[in-house]
Amino acid sequence: MKPENRRLYSPAVVKKIIEKHGFRFSKSLGQNFLIDGNIIDRIIEGANIKESDGIIEVGPGIGTLTQKLCESAGKVVAIELDNNLLQILEETLGSYDNVEVIHGDVLKVDLNQLIKEKLEDRTVKVVANLPYYITTPIIMKLLEENLNIDKIVVMVQKEVAHRMKAVPGNKDYGALSIAVQYYSKPEIIVDVPKNVFMPRPNVDSAVIMLDVYNEPVIKVKDEKLFFNVVKAAFGKRRKTLLNALTSGIGLKKEEIEIILEKCSIDPVRRGETLDSTEFAGIADEIYMMINNY
Ligand code: SAM
Repeated sequence: MKPENRRLYSPAVVKKIIEKHGFRFSKSLGQNFLIDGNIIDRIIEGANIKESDGIIEVGPGIGTLTQKLCESAGKVVAIELDNNLLQILEETLGSYDNVEVIHGDVLKVDLNQLIKEKLEDRTVKVVANLPYYITTPIIMKLLEENLNIDKIVVMVQKEVAHRMKAVPGNKDYGALSIAVQYYSKPEIIVDVPKNVFMPRPNVDSAVIMLDVYNEPVIKVKDEKLFFNVVKAAFGKRRKTLLNALTSGIGLKKEEIEIILEKCSIDPVRRGETLDSTEFAGIADEIYMMINNY
């Protein structure tokens, strides 16, 4: 076996590679590399990867997950911000001809363009062990930019995975749950302990799969307004819906009262008890009031 094809999840191999290249882990870049083959297999299985798939990987690190992706997908595009990892990746991924490493910040890369140029005609999936400091911006970028993505399978902080999946009445339910569930159907694949990473993070993790809808299942007249209503309702958690919406959406209290009555929603309820359909109803009534329907 060529040295660069050694299984990179072995802690001894990771240590050898990083020592050879004088690499230092950067906490601020969220660098916690996977050192467990079983978890990598669970990620690959969760994404149900086929030869016809094109994968976008965010943050390949030293290429541990990337190698497995290259072996199961037709094409892999990996976006890595840390300059110091590029030479290592050349070495560890050198024997795969279906991978391209892009040096850049995933939040700044034009993913629509990338998909058009590099993954056209493939079923696109995003698979990654995400840098936790920007989990939510990455997920929201992937969902909001209307990209042609089939699935997102990512390792995230456990608490964030549970927030994405939460339903009304649950303590983790909030604006993130509604946003993620507006665009996709989330499913937690596996909870992951701290000891499968090098170095160990301070938090527990989970792999979550977001099955992205072709079109949102909830129809609203104005998406931006819908999300503003959700944000206003959760912005002031201890307030009643009536008060939270009055201070968050530039309408008078009496107007919000009329809207809630039209939606048959009790004004003393709190935001966390409403489901997406109820939020959609409120947003649509506000839209009609503002636009004098
Ligand atoms: N995939 C590797 C693994 O599982 O071992 C590394 C995962 S590590 C949790 C996160 C990776 O994301 C690191 O390689 C880090 O350098 C990279 N990263 C951090 N911020 C990034 C950004 N804005 N854009 C692209 N990659 C980023």
